[in-house]
Amino acid sequence: MTIMDDQLPEKTPFVKEIPRKADDLSEWYQAVCYKAELVSLSPVRGCVVLRPYGYGLWERLQSELDARFKATGHENAYFPLLIPESLLMREAEHVEGFAPEVAWVTQGGNEKLAERLAIRPTSEVIIGTMYAEWVQSYRDLPILINQWANVMRWEKRTRPFLRTLEFLWQEGHTAHETQAEAAAEVAQMLEVYKEVAEDIVGVPVYKGEKSVSERFAGADHTYSIEALMPDGKALQAGTSHELGQNFARAYDITFAGRDQTQQHAWTTSWGMSWRMLGALIMVHGDDQGLRIPPKMAPVEVVIVPIARGDSTVASDFAKVLHAQLRPQFRVKLDDRDLRPGNKYADWDLRGVPLRIVIGERDLAEGKVTVVRRDFPPKTAGREVAVAIGDVAATLRELLVDIQANLYAQARTFLHDHTFAPATREEFVAKAKGRAGMLDIPWCDRAECEAAIKEQTSATTRNLRTPALGPVCLACGEPARVQAYVAQSY
Ligand SMILES: [Zn+2]
Repeated sequence: MTIMDDQLPEKTPFVKEIPRKADDLSEWYQAVCYKAELVSLSPVRGCVVLRPYGYGLWERLQSELDARFKATGHENAYFPLLIPESLLMREAEHVEGFAPEVAWVTQGGNEKLAERLAIRPTSEVIIGTMYAEWVQSYRDLPILINQWANVMRWEKRTRPFLRTLEFLWQEGHTAHETQAEAAAEVAQMLEVYKEVAEDIVGVPVYKGEKSVSERFAGADHTYSIEALMPDGKALQAGTSHELGQNFARAYDITFAGRDQTQQHAWTTSWGMSWRMLGALIMVHGDDQGLRIPPKMAPVEVVIVPIARGDSTVASDFAKVLHAQLRPQFRVKLDDRDLRPGNKYADWDLRGVPLRIVIGERDLAEGKVTVVRRDFPPKTAGREVAVAIGDVAATLRELLVDIQANLYAQARTFLHDHTFAPATREEFVAKAKGRAGMLDIPWCDRAECEAAIKEQTSATTRNLRTPALGPVCLACGEPARVQAYVAQSY
């Protein structure tokens, strides 16, 4: 299976075998996405279909994020898909940043529209317009709203979860009385993203501010979390923006302040998309397929009874166990008419953290076998015999252990592939060679960043202070910040 990024067929390719992950991450990634039934390609070029198992993953991410949004005082709402052109044009920088990716509706039914309508690439414009209507006084602030939605950005390449025309995400949009409150909101939501990425998805990230050239169009400050993929490329997994008063000025979000003066609100926006699932797949998967951290798993435990002849002893017990475990776990009973080996391979491919195998001989001895997905095949400790009375407690312990193990492995990888190059030569070689995250003192100049990109294809991923050395490792000018530099998705 060889697929050029920009020449994806409209039909999902049939995947016979998953290639080795270490041989070609891109081929492996696409094969896993299709074979594990996460997505299918669609007749619409550039758009993928999220199949039930893929949607199950998205729902897990959604519910973990949503609970945290609500715990931090936010409410969900929904705004229209279409944005009138004249509205979109009001924030100049924003328009310039998004114009190349906007899709337009020009006709309704048989009539050509008097004004083109943009399909939202993001919703600052439409939401800002409504906030202008809703906010009159400082008493109306803050507004803390999140929207779960699809957006569209006209991309030339397609890669499931990473780059598609239409994608699913959430976008938070808030309006505040003061800059300090807006800044605190942005920091809080970035921390929520980091927590979900690390504690739930098991993907360690670096948190920091984006450089001026990597900033969101129309923002004063953009912050991101950045993960590292196995091919040494970084993946931006969530962003949080301080929009200053830019959108408030463009869309007239004004209020009577405590001192009775008319003021512009301070707004923020923040988003995480199904890209995070792309990171999950690449970071944790292995040659057998997906390995899903338990907290993200649509199915935490699968029960596979092994029938012996016509006896129903194993399958009867499997039904009883399934009913017992159901209130406590996301558990599935696999009673398909398939050979056990095929079932094992199938659940390994789908990355289900635990498998309970029920055989008659084991049952006669009062036990079942539990197999953990995070250990490679034939490793000691992968399979354990568990007394029937201890199954629920053992599952609980193992799920905690698998979550921790997958995170620890990813943490070790990030640590081992984060470098502080000593010389410019080493920096250039490592950036070109996709060694990983390069942690360098940096001058914070756009010219320098452009030169790095030209020479190595790498860009700054995010920045923090203070700089850990006196001069920029790329150009020799005085260093102002510390930067993570890498090629990226
Ligand atoms: Zn520099």
